[in-house]
Amino acid sequence: VKDEGRGGLRFFEASMNAQLHARRQLEQELSGAIDRDELQLFYQPIVNAKTGEIETFEALIRWRHPVRGLVSPVEFIPLAEQADLIAAIGQWVIDTACAAAATWPKPWRVSVNVSPSQFRQSDVPALAAAALARNALDANRLVIEITESVFIQDAANAVDVLSRLRRQGVHLALDDFGSGYSSLSYLQRFKFDKIKIDQSFVRRLGQSSDTLTIIHAIANLGHNLGLHVTVEGVETAEQLAILKEIGFDQMQGYLFGKPAPTLTVTDFEQARLRA
Ligand code: C2E
Ligand code: CA
Ligand code: CA
Ligand code: CA
Repeated sequence: VKDEGRGGLRFFEASMNAQLHARRQLEQELSGAIDRDELQLFYQPIVNAKTGEIETFEALIRWRHPVRGLVSPVEFIPLAEQADLIAAIGQWVIDTACAAAATWPKPWRVSVNVSPSQFRQSDVPALAAAALARNALDANRLVIEITESVFIQDAANAVDVLSRLRRQGVHLALDDFGSGYSSLSYLQRFKFDKIKIDQSFVRRLGQSSDTLTIIHAIANLGHNLGLHVTVEGVETAEQLAILKEIGFDQMQGYLFGKPAPTLTVTDFEQARLRA
């Protein structure tokens, strides 16, 4: 029994080492990904909830790994944060998104995700200003999406950085709203332009009738505070029909368009254009 225990422990150690090794290797590879041109932004449309017209595209990063294929940001953004690569990647994202938006046929906004550690480590207002100037893009074409976790480590600094972005004319969105546990208090810390209701709510729409009540209450709360409200993760016509009852400003989800490397007009948009 004792031997088996030791063997188990040794096996455990070996697999831990293998995992650590794999992570180090991925970190190593990620550190060269920008120079090797392996990072790419996909764009997903965000539409006006009343007219269905596209208003914004959210930039979502992908890593085209030579062996693993397309790696999800859910996998490599946390790695980038731990390996101190997030500042470089974040700067690349802002630059690339602004350069893309400057070439678009219409003045759609571009929405960029900024992770909490990037918010602390780099001067996001300076990066945004440089990217906007370089591409002759109006500041109000840029939206920065952050999650409430940005307030956890240094709330005063977060509010200061947000205020600077606001003074520049950049729009500010509170992402994944309702998924944390203290969302309400963060609405008092800074007046965002919009909140994006976390997609977990829409996913649970069919499961419980309370979900619709909660989504409705969040939308009302946002509107009563003078904020725009976006609902994320709308995948089906059934969900759309239910959500239509609630007066959202914007909607986002596979129903309107999946993230894609180039701007795409979806079936939904084509139907709207024909109507
Ligand atoms: P997020 O900001 O909440 O982005 C929305 C995620 O939901 C995206 O996943 C998008 O592809 C997905 N999505 C959109 N519509 C639907 C839908 O109808 N159904 C379902 N099931 N999913 C939908 P993605 O692209 O894998 O990104 C995941 C997360 O990674 C993002 O969540 C964001 O937190 C982070 N991320 C993405 N790009 C960047 C980036 O450039 N910088 C940073 N710091 N984080 C990023
Ligand atoms: Ca987002
Ligand atoms: Ca989100
Ligand atoms: Ca998220």
